[in-house]
Amino acid sequence: MAAPENKLAFDDGWQYSPAPESTGHIKIDKRYELFIGGKFVAPEKGKYFDTINPATEERLSRVADASALDVDKAVKAARKAYGPWSRLKAAERGKYIYRIARIMQERSREFAVIESLDGGKPIRESRDVDIPLATAHFFYYAGWADKLEYAFPGRKVKPLGVAGQVIPWNFPMLMASWKIAPALACGNTVVLKPAETTPLTAMKLAEAIADAGLPPGVVNIVTGAGDTGAAVVTHPDVDKVAFTGSTSVGRVIQKALAGTNKKYTLELGGKAANIVFADAAIDQAVEGIVTGIFFNQGHVCCAGSRLLVQESVADEVVQKLKDRMETLIVGDPLDKNTDIGAINSASQLKTIEAYLAVGQEEGGTMYQSSCAVPDKGYWCRPTIFTDVSQSNRVVQEEIFGPVLAIQTFRTFDEAVSKANNTPYGLSGGIWTDKGAKIFKMTQSIRAGVVWANTFNKFDPASPFGGYKESGVGREGGLHGLGAYLKLEA
Ligand code: ADP
Repeated sequence: MAAPENKLAFDDGWQYSPAPESTGHIKIDKRYELFIGGKFVAPEKGKYFDTINPATEERLSRVADASALDVDKAVKAARKAYGPWSRLKAAERGKYIYRIARIMQERSREFAVIESLDGGKPIRESRDVDIPLATAHFFYYAGWADKLEYAFPGRKVKPLGVAGQVIPWNFPMLMASWKIAPALACGNTVVLKPAETTPLTAMKLAEAIADAGLPPGVVNIVTGAGDTGAAVVTHPDVDKVAFTGSTSVGRVIQKALAGTNKKYTLELGGKAANIVFADAAIDQAVEGIVTGIFFNQGHVCCAGSRLLVQESVADEVVQKLKDRMETLIVGDPLDKNTDIGAINSASQLKTIEAYLAVGQEEGGTMYQSSCAVPDKGYWCRPTIFTDVSQSNRVVQEEIFGPVLAIQTFRTFDEAVSKANNTPYGLSGGIWTDKGAKIFKMTQSIRAGVVWANTFNKFDPASPFGGYKESGVGREGGLHGLGAYLKLEA
């Protein structure tokens, strides 16, 4: 019998085969249980849900659907582990976190493939961005574990207790790392809930955590949908809530937490302006616009989903952008040549398509690249809207897809006022030849992160978070430690 065709080969000879059981490279179990108290346990109510491959609509596995009973078990396990874990010598805590990082590094190829299978993102992104960056967060925060008093000189630092963490589907492994690594470094224990469409790499992370010998209950992972998330954030014995997701769910959570003593960070939506001045290196700026909105299918809270381009170069930039869009390949996430993978779920595709209709009804001119897309699976061609105005919904609302709204401006002040005129304040980008303009603009845009002559660059040492409806608090870097500590005088 002919060997299965290997669709994906890495430069070091490692290969993914679509017949996983015959290769041992990739192992996706038929069913995943909950990770509670260091063990993989069945959900109390015996319910499971399907996780599918959005590029083929085929089932990849069945995953436990945690009820409030399971969440309670997980919180109890985390509480039990909290005493010994928080009292452990900080350097020893650091060693465990390093061990998790090393296992992630060893299994990075496998994690990247599973991330792309479950979430639809191009393998180039999961291999070169998501998994290495997720691992880097564990390495980074492992280093802080025994240096907390240096991070906050003159203050007494104490962990908060049990952290309840709910994450979205756009960067599953990376968001799990953003949440778990700083929590552990500061001596907290964790109950994490991954998103319902992308639970698999979290379960792979649970395997890595178990293999690292982390004491039982220090990290617990409960899979399920919104109800499970709500059970985590409202559990009375959870001391700290960390949520990344939509602004609408963020509001529900903020209301639920009002009047409780829980500390929280919320990382919500965005509608970033990518601002291109006439003096910018135009070809570079066009690449930055493409990265800004088409990276990860536009499923990025800090995506550059609005382009503000100075009037004198607008025609040139839009034409170059259209030409570049024609070269983008939409399709099989496991193909190394793919630029834009599958939309994460049928429901997200519906949302995006509704916005495409709204944008046109509002009078916008829609342009999509002419590329072919596969018959099965969820796909959206790269799309831009011109002739839009500030009040249009495609300018004001987060679409979370490969859809860019383009406006022009004449003066610096007009760019600032348009950039700031949405309910969000998560990120922004500026393209110019002039350093002084960069500094002036970064002071003028109300956004947590502003990139200059680049876009969508991340680093564990850099804080991330929003203003206005984009959220509360910062994650990453030193600021990310503060979110998991009681700082006493
Ligand atoms: P999106 O709308 O982009 O799917 P959501 O904000 O709905 O993003 O989802 C982000 C995460 O929040 C997911 O893990 C989801 O299951 C969870 N979630 C949804 N509703 C709630 C809720 N009411 N309370 C807590 N978590 C929730």
